Amino acid sequence: MNRLELNAYAKVNLGLDVLRRREDGYHELRMIMQTVDLYDILTLEKTDELGISMTCNIERLPCDESNLVCKAAKLMFEEYNLPGGIKMHLEKRIPMAAGMAGGSTDAAAIFNGINELYDLGVSKERLCELGVKVGADVPYCIVGGTALSEGIGEVLTMLPNVPDCVVLIAKPDFDVSTKYVFENLHANSLTYHPDIDAMADAIRAGDLDGVVKVMDNVLETVTEARYTEITAIKTVMKEHGAMRAMMSGSGPTVFGLYENESDAEAAADAIKKQNLAKQVFVSSFYHPVK
Ligand code: ATP
Repeated sequence: MNRLELNAYAKVNLGLDVLRRREDGYHELRMIMQTVDLYDILTLEKTDELGISMTCNIERLPCDESNLVCKAAKLMFEEYNLPGGIKMHLEKRIPMAAGMAGGSTDAAAIFNGINELYDLGVSKERLCELGVKVGADVPYCIVGGTALSEGIGEVLTMLPNVPDCVVLIAKPDFDVSTKYVFENLHANSLTYHPDIDAMADAIRAGDLDGVVKVMDNVLETVTEARYTEITAIKTVMKEHGAMRAMMSGSGPTVFGLYENESDAEAAADAIKKQNLAKQVFVSSFYHPVK
């Protein structure tokens, strides 16, 4: 095989708690992760010439060694002493700096893709060990689906698929840096914590109402407090029948869960009409084949 095209799926956090800030500056998290049917497309092509190179459809995203796609490829080439080189193209569709793990999922697709393209037969466990060197969310993105993510993101417990529903995703027209949000969180003096265990139990019981009841993201206390657009989008989503609307990750993306597509479409139209977000997607949960 010389060429491979693959999808890199975005995630939302159905639950996100921060336990504490460690002395080394990392935060200990407990998150319920879920992939959604919104993806970047990566094309990988072996080359005889040495070297790792990439192109991208988005001008503002650098295609040099700072890109997580290049970092992942470099690590795989070094680790497995691969011959020749590789040319990669990224078609970016996932909103950037949005709390949807766009960069991490691209890196994860490169770990999975190089494993397949070069027929390496590396286990998912080993790919995850390498992946965490590129980013804390990369191990989860390598496996995808529904999972409890702990530690800094490297301790994964797979969960059964969350029951299906319609997922409306809206990214307001500004970026939020993950670093800014964590720096302003004051993790060691939080007065409440989302009930992540209750959510994991609801998922194990296949109980979507139970999931919706305990959806919570502690990072909203920072991002939503600063950007009123987030509250405005949540309000529009709820006015149009969302079971729940919440920010994903460090934001600013907001997602709403719906029982039916027509309500989600109506909410999408209202969000666009009110100029609250341009990047709006009516999507669903994505469950990789196990
Ligand atoms: P997370 O949910 O993991 O916090 P995010 O959605 O907030 O991620 P990303 O879209 O992953 O943020 O990107 C954050 C920054 O990482 C970007 O501003 C960009 O400079 C850099 N980056 C490096 N490689 C990539 C990539 N392949 N795709 C997107 N961003 C990348």
